[in-house]
Amino acid sequence: MRKIKGNRLMFIILAVLCLCIYACYDGVDFPSGKSSRSGKSKKKNKELTTAIARQWFEANMTPVVTMRSSEAKDVQAAMVKPKWEDAYEANRGKYEVVQTPILTRGRRMFVDAETQSEFEKIRGQKYLRNAARMVIRKDLKTGEIRSFITVFVGSLEYMKKSKRMGRNSYLYRETNFDGKVLFFEPNGGLINGWKYRNGKIVAKIMPLSEDAKFIITRGWVEECYTETDYELTEECHDEVSIEPDEEFGDAWVVEHVCDEVWTPIEYQVCYDVWEEDGDSGDGGIGDGDGIGGDVDPSENEVAPNAKKLFQNKDMLVRDWKFIEEKLDSIMKDCMGKGLYNSLVDSLKGEHISFQFFTEEQASFNPQTNTLQWNRNMESNQLFHELMHAYQYQNEKSLDSWRNAIMNMEIETHYAHYLYIKGSSEYGGSDWEKGIKGGDPRILSTANLKGLLDAKGNLRDGMIIEQLDIYLEFNVVPSFKQDINYKKFVYDKSRSSLSNFSNLNKITKDC
Ligand SMILES: [Zn+2]
Repeated sequence: MRKIKGNRLMFIILAVLCLCIYACYDGVDFPSGKSSRSGKSKKKNKELTTAIARQWFEANMTPVVTMRSSEAKDVQAAMVKPKWEDAYEANRGKYEVVQTPILTRGRRMFVDAETQSEFEKIRGQKYLRNAARMVIRKDLKTGEIRSFITVFVGSLEYMKKSKRMGRNSYLYRETNFDGKVLFFEPNGGLINGWKYRNGKIVAKIMPLSEDAKFIITRGWVEECYTETDYELTEECHDEVSIEPDEEFGDAWVVEHVCDEVWTPIEYQVCYDVWEEDGDSGDGGIGDGDGIGGDVDPSENEVAPNAKKLFQNKDMLVRDWKFIEEKLDSIMKDCMGKGLYNSLVDSLKGEHISFQFFTEEQASFNPQTNTLQWNRNMESNQLFHELMHAYQYQNEKSLDSWRNAIMNMEIETHYAHYLYIKGSSEYGGSDWEKGIKGGDPRILSTANLKGLLDAKGNLRDGMIIEQLDIYLEFNVVPSFKQDINYKKFVYDKSRSSLSNFSNLNKITKDC
């Protein structure tokens, strides 16, 4: 019986020790510091090495920091500390970062309202987890070092279908990440965050206490709503009771008891909304995006498709988002998707300069490799210029482009007509008006459909001479009646079907 007493004492000591050992937030499939799984930068940091990051952290932070998920007074802050043994380096652009998994006292997890409502059904599932890191970041341009805690909260659907939650990190998101990224100040609260839908940022997250900023720049309005997530906290403690024991008199009985506590966490989720009647035109943009303390996403995450195609160093995040939405519309169309993919392929990593035009017109200039477009325009007008950009990729030279610029315009017009005819943008468009009003350029383009199918092939029963004659004696003169196309050169030496070879290529999978 003496042994039992010894065991009990040992147990008490262990139980007390347990309180001091932190449980890992997401120990399940977090890549350890030793392995070199993808999602991590293979390049080592030049300035912010792990040793320097640790030194900086230890000099500027307490060994254990708090993290306040809610501003409500009765909510206990989490005790958090970095797990330096598993630290790893990553870098992109002007940032070098060192990230570590974090250890918390007791289990903690953030979930969205949907996950919370299903929690009892899915309890214990491996996918049910956050990805959380301590990030120490150095801005190589300014030399500033700061640290913050990132927590990825997946939507229920994302967690269920993706087994890669743990791969999301500050400089890397899974391309289909769906949910929220929250940034917390060590020894503080929420800094800000971003809401993702299928890999793209759709809204910004701000603390409730921060005044919603209704920034109006060129018609952009920020609309904010309160959204509630939930934090699950497991609070464990040891209950020691003393029971009478025949042999020893009183004996200690130690029980490890854990309670689960759900805490609602509220924040503002703000969407940028483009208001058509907003003050448009002459800029006045200012520095709308640079709200102090932001932990910015990179533009690649805001607008992955637009960033593959375009470059513009000075464009705001919201403008990238705006273009991305138009490209999304284009890619919903089979031909549009073919055009986008073919153009990206043919650019081989190069980019087209993108500029917003204040005039209500759009253009592609092959000489300067610049695409201009007005933000009041719809996706079909962007499609038109992208088509020109793709045509130019397949031309041998600027001279051959110039000598066949009418050929280019006819093909692009026909593709444009096919695109808009099948889209919701047709109603009220110049195309609808042109066809109703008998505009020769529009009508002659639309009537090409009698000779050509939607892939630019000659229709059954038609002969090539009919197309030759129709182009030269009907379409070209109709274009020349329009002042904008009056001086365009038509290259008759090209076979009439070859004029539609780009259309043919971009519709090969349709
Ligand atoms: Zn054109």
